[in-house]
Amino acid sequence: MRLSASDIYAYHRPSPCGLRVYLRHRGELESEPGEYEEVLRRLGERHERSHLKSLRGVVELDTGMREERERLTRQAVADEQEVIYQPALRASLEIAGVRWEVTGDPDFLIRWGDGYLIRDCKIARRITHKDHPEIHHQMELYGWLFERTFGTPPRALEVYNGAGEIVELTYKGGTRALQELEVIAGIKRTSREPYEPVGWTKCKDCSFHYRCWPQAEGRKDVALVYGVDQWMVHELREDGIEAYPKLVELFTEERLARLTKPAGTHTSRVGKRAGSIMRMAQALVDGREILIQPPAIPESDDYVMFDLEGMPPQLQEPAKIYLWGLQVYGRHPGEFRSALADFGPEGDRNGWLEFLRLAGEMLEENGDLPFVHWHSYEKTNIRLYVERYGDPDGVAARVLENLVDCLPLAQESIALPLPSYSLKVVEKYIGFERKLHNTGGDWAMARYVEAVETEDEFERQALMNLITAYNREDLEAMWAVLQWLRSKVQPDVKLVSAEDAEEG
Ligand code: SF4
Repeated sequence: MRLSASDIYAYHRPSPCGLRVYLRHRGELESEPGEYEEVLRRLGERHERSHLKSLRGVVELDTGMREERERLTRQAVADEQEVIYQPALRASLEIAGVRWEVTGDPDFLIRWGDGYLIRDCKIARRITHKDHPEIHHQMELYGWLFERTFGTPPRALEVYNGAGEIVELTYKGGTRALQELEVIAGIKRTSREPYEPVGWTKCKDCSFHYRCWPQAEGRKDVALVYGVDQWMVHELREDGIEAYPKLVELFTEERLARLTKPAGTHTSRVGKRAGSIMRMAQALVDGREILIQPPAIPESDDYVMFDLEGMPPQLQEPAKIYLWGLQVYGRHPGEFRSALADFGPEGDRNGWLEFLRLAGEMLEENGDLPFVHWHSYEKTNIRLYVERYGDPDGVAARVLENLVDCLPLAQESIALPLPSYSLKVVEKYIGFERKLHNTGGDWAMARYVEAVETEDEFERQALMNLITAYNREDLEAMWAVLQWLRSKVQPDVKLVSAEDAEEG
């Protein structure tokens, strides 16, 4: 019976889920990692190698059989070596009368005073317990394994983070890590597959998505109802509601509103969300949408479709928008325009200034008109860039004034028989067909990292052209969805394809 530090990672990442631990323990088939996940793995390896290069007097133990590495680790510590790379630690632990072998391989043991500190390299920049409990628990486990192996606690636990800083964590004897291992051991020992509610965000990057999602659809799992949180699923199941048809049949809005989260740090009730959840469940049961109210779309002859492609903070780089895409649709359609951050040291600023120029041109040509986007990303980033580089001519302020977030308009007006209101899901529902296949936000980020890394200008241009074409299709999709929503306000709105719109 084995437990390891990587079990802790599997329990938390890409999202907290015990079923993942169970399925992996049983050797269930997993899908290949996504393209962006691969990029992160590569960046992580590079980050670790560059830190390794910066250290002197290193004993490298990253190859060979595990037992031999464990022996060499003990030997290297006895010899008081300065730095030990990829040491292998092992100790045994009894949980509920069963003996488990626990293993863990931190990145470095570094001689400190008359002992050793443990250091791990992570590309995450914020190493708080809230953001990355798995890092804290893994480090605690390494500390415990070290103490059990050498009879003395580590001098410190340190993380070399993505921003290139050393973050110190407090070693508390491994208590929290061991508590988590107990939970994981329980999951590994159970003979029956544990129930775990699916969730759109929770499951989308998980290697068992291919398996769990269709199964949840097959049993009409109540977790598929848009707006139902994970804790609600557990509470509803306590009340005998496992499938959404039962929710519709046996629950009323008032009863659902009273459903209360079990006591924890603070309690929460379904409350006002109950009406929307019941409508969503009904839409799923009926397999058709329910109009709640006409969508509150501002009247205009023309609309700018507006969508950004960006990267989260990575290693030393802050979050950045590398493509600002815009196009006027409606009575006076315009051409697709995009502002790209170039690859020079001022690329981020140049991309922002080019966006302001393009948006300024549009406002000049069309006057104030709605800038339609999907979700809060565009608004958040315009504000961020105003803070970062300013808004010399007030164009960003005008764009902010004219922003129309299409997502809440859709959510508030129509209950869709769908588990998500992401643009990709809604556009498919209304019958919009993309010409570019296997694309998406993660795909675009992976292509962008390739474009940054390549030295070949021709290849870089080809990659940026692909991302631009993808962004342009996002705008077309958003226009199609906006028109579909407008048809709910004015049933006589003729649905016009993007090509029609471009031809005027
Ligand atoms: S797909 Fe979802 S429910 Fe299944 S193991 Fe992954 S996170 Fe858990």
